Amino acid sequence: MTESAAAAPDRARCSRCAGEGALLLVKAGKVVAEACECTRTCPRCEGTGRLYETDVRGYSVLRGCTCGADPRRLAMLAGLKLPTHFIDKTLSNYRPRNPQQMKALGRAGRFVDELVPQTAGTRALCFVGPPGTGKTHLLAAILRQLALEKGVRGRYAEFFLLLSDIKDGYSNGTSARDWLEPLREVEVLAIDEVGKGGKNREWEQGVIDEIISVRYNAGRPTLLATNYPRPGATWKFGAEGEVGETLEQRVGPRVYSRLHEHCDFIEVLGSDFRREQHEERERAPGAVQGRRGIPGVGDALPLKSRTDRSGR
Ligand SMILES: [Zn+2]
Ligand SMILES: [Zn+2]
Repeated sequence: MTESAAAAPDRARCSRCAGEGALLLVKAGKVVAEACECTRTCPRCEGTGRLYETDVRGYSVLRGCTCGADPRRLAMLAGLKLPTHFIDKTLSNYRPRNPQQMKALGRAGRFVDELVPQTAGTRALCFVGPPGTGKTHLLAAILRQLALEKGVRGRYAEFFLLLSDIKDGYSNGTSARDWLEPLREVEVLAIDEVGKGGKNREWEQGVIDEIISVRYNAGRPTLLATNYPRPGATWKFGAEGEVGETLEQRVGPRVYSRLHEHCDFIEVLGSDFRREQHEERERAPGAVQGRRGIPGVGDALPLKSRTDRSGR
């Protein structure tokens, strides 16, 4: 073994960051991004995350290192505003439990591969499926991978919380432009739980309509996820106290037809993973057995991941 090979960190084997070089952690209730310790021995940047390179004109330019320590990418990672339960979700730790989930994972990976930063033309995606099938996991993982690998500025937002932020803004004198502009500017926006709303349905439908159109006109893709089925689906969803409705009923025919125009719909079906985990824990505390589902799929998952991940 040569000396330089011996000095190079074996990042793929790093158990803390799984080779990504960056970590999202919760500190004092806030999600922060940090370079993993394994980047300190990076042979290119020696842990600074920055490199001087010579560009085509012969000028020396400062660039971010791809090891994960680049402060700019770390700021992007923290700026995704991922919910705390999903800060460790990646495409490689999503465990598909049926062929549809396998397909959804493949489509998520293709979205990451095909997206060319600052270039219009990427199709938007809408993940459709009942709760607990991994839709939020996929949204979080796509945003994370794009930020780390391509330096794409993304943002995660839960539809219901977004609505209440907008309402708060109005009462503090914020104009429609003030809340819409940051959502338009971000390169990839993920809106989770589309259709989950309060009592003012017409206004809520107007908000989602405006966000989707303004982003479409700016040539920036929006990722969506919803618990509400498309018309004609064999399953139903209604939050507590609600009758089951379709996505078309929740967002209105106009927004629904716009979604159809701009998005690829991806079904993420399956039983509720979180509920199953809870029931398994209840039945046999401390002795969780293998998961139901497709034999072999997910069997290699370490026990820890099967038992302590509440957010999927
Ligand atoms: Zn590491
Ligand atoms: Zn480096």
